[in-house]
Amino acid sequence: MVPLLIGMGCTAPKAEDAVVRVPLEVGATVLGVTRGEPDRPVPGTSNEAPTVAVDTSGGVWVAWTARWEDDEVIWLQDSQGLTREIAVAKLASNPRIAAGPDGSVWLTWVMGDEGRHVYLQRVDLRDTERQRISHDPWNAHPALVVGEDGPHLVWETASRTIVYFHEHTIGLGGLDVLRRRPDIALLPDGPIVAWDELQWTRGRVDPDYDLVVWRPGEKNEPQVLRRPGIQAAPDLLAQPDGSLLIACHDSESTGGIVKWLRLFRWDAGEWSSWEDPQASLEHTGENQGAEFPSIARTRDGGLVAVTRGAHGHQVHLLSASGASAPLDLTRSVWGARGWRQDVIVAGDTAYIARRARKENLVEVLKLPAVSGLPPFSPVEDLVDEGAPLPSKVPGVVFGDVHMHSALSDGTGPPDEILARAWARGLDFAVLTDHDTIVGSQLSPSDHDEIRVVTDWFDHLAGFTTLHGYEWTTPPTWREGSGHRNVYFSGADPTLHSAALGAPDTAALNAALAEEQAFTAPHHSSWTGTDWANFDPSIQRQFEIVSVHGLSEMPGDQVIGARWHEGGSYASDGLAAGLVFGFLGGSDGHGLRWHHGIGRVEDPWATGLTGARCSDPCGRGALWAEMYARRTWATSGARIVAELRIGEVGPGEETVADGEVSLTWTGTATLVRDGAVLGEFADGHVDRAPKGAHSYYIRIERDGHYAWTSPIFVEVR
Ligand SMILES: [Zn+2]
Ligand SMILES: [Zn+2]
Repeated sequence: MVPLLIGMGCTAPKAEDAVVRVPLEVGATVLGVTRGEPDRPVPGTSNEAPTVAVDTSGGVWVAWTARWEDDEVIWLQDSQGLTREIAVAKLASNPRIAAGPDGSVWLTWVMGDEGRHVYLQRVDLRDTERQRISHDPWNAHPALVVGEDGPHLVWETASRTIVYFHEHTIGLGGLDVLRRRPDIALLPDGPIVAWDELQWTRGRVDPDYDLVVWRPGEKNEPQVLRRPGIQAAPDLLAQPDGSLLIACHDSESTGGIVKWLRLFRWDAGEWSSWEDPQASLEHTGENQGAEFPSIARTRDGGLVAVTRGAHGHQVHLLSASGASAPLDLTRSVWGARGWRQDVIVAGDTAYIARRARKENLVEVLKLPAVSGLPPFSPVEDLVDEGAPLPSKVPGVVFGDVHMHSALSDGTGPPDEILARAWARGLDFAVLTDHDTIVGSQLSPSDHDEIRVVTDWFDHLAGFTTLHGYEWTTPPTWREGSGHRNVYFSGADPTLHSAALGAPDTAALNAALAEEQAFTAPHHSSWTGTDWANFDPSIQRQFEIVSVHGLSEMPGDQVIGARWHEGGSYASDGLAAGLVFGFLGGSDGHGLRWHHGIGRVEDPWATGLTGARCSDPCGRGALWAEMYARRTWATSGARIVAELRIGEVGPGEETVADGEVSLTWTGTATLVRDGAVLGEFADGHVDRAPKGAHSYYIRIERDGHYAWTSPIFVEVR
């Protein structure tokens, strides 16, 4: 054990009255870096999702998943500190461990070479067989509790069914809702399950996720608590009085975008809730929010909760007098966490399992005496009908092609990110999590989850998704190639990772030459871009605007940029005669003001792509428009931008004899070969020198901007 003293994190200076000051000492036991079989050390950079249990003798058990070459491995560290491999498959993830009152310890996980099934194994005895218990071909997020009568499980399937298992399975499905992240607890009168489900409310800043409880049984109806905003990722705790505590992350009490820990109590059908006054404070720094809570009861009847901030984990102590200021478990470092954490209490000690920047940790906290629960208030259904969506221009679609979830360095689960785009009335969206970021890699199971979720949302009427990811290398000023998003036309995307075989632009281009895919670099004014390896058949696009600002041209930036990396603006590529179109994407990570550098508070309102694509604009048609560069970018508003040279439009190539006659509507700034020609109304006739040229326009509407893709003209 490496004792590690961490000072009190105080992120909530304005809620003094609600804050309990308690000293906590944190000691960290590092798992997963040097442990494992001696000839097969566990790779430290891809260990994920640790889960912890304490058996009736006080022994601590930890399980986690890790990548091993092309496979994933479920590892177990037993109460003697010995590590053993439980299972290996192409996909092996979502481990959960639990101890029973009879001294048994059980482990569940999902795995498969094709699809992924739920497995269950007793692990405190050697030589026990694992048992496959699922029937659907794709399953996720099993949760486990062990009673006097053995293990009870719950999980979700790709057919959006919640499945309960104890000796046999009972499924609850068939409704037109997205049900995810179930958890299970044992009340005195039997098991109880809760999950979150997405309601199809639109015209909202945040998607509408609600909590549902269900007593497993063929005839039992689920009970939904309708509230505005997001209540998701429930963690359950049965109370001695027979009620159920549900911790979740919530955006109703924060005012949106950022989520915070919230508690609900379900008591024989009656709901009440506790909102942390710290939830509504303004969040501006890097480590915003408190998501994916795990809770446990302290010896004195208080609660300890562990949550995931955007860039680190934190501990909350809850008692009758309210909530402590969150204790940061690490100094906030961008990307320094996995998305799941686990806490369990034995005696006066809390064991916290979580992924840190490069390893899994089990941290050991001596808990001060905190007793009682914070004050709950009755809460009733409040159905938010949403607002009318912005009126549509027939044949025009808008979407966000650049967004991140908690599976890389963003916040919220992947479905929340696409659900938000849908709730805001966008016509299409692409979730583009990083393949690798600050030492963390998108695991095969993460990639698989994004694939499945992306396909779910593509099936919604009037909404289209593409498969994509963000290929991520260091900035060019650190010998990297910068960042670029990859967009696939098909349903089976391959993750050509910068960490594993596509380390530079040339390798990525070679890999993508075998696919129906194209790339677009972004925030290149900050991290640079690799023009030297420009391949016009692969790099079809350039993301000109996002939360990071504009990468249009140095010296004439109509909105700010994060940095000024000379030679990496759109103007530099166009001046060199390169051919590409323009996309806009938010690059949202779920942080208000994008941790202080954003030009607006809402990180998801900082970039859009527009295209002409008739209804229904399916995946193939949308991808083809983007591939053909027939797009325009906006700074976040739904501005329709159009430019013509005769019959030829943005992204296309044409020829002209001496004069180039451009037409558009209204006042616009005309840019030739990356340099401003001037501001003109309703068009312009340009006498360009012989040779290859590009023309695009930039228009302004109420403080927002749009950029058409260039038209490429050979002047004879
Ligand atoms: Zn990036
Ligand atoms: Zn990004």
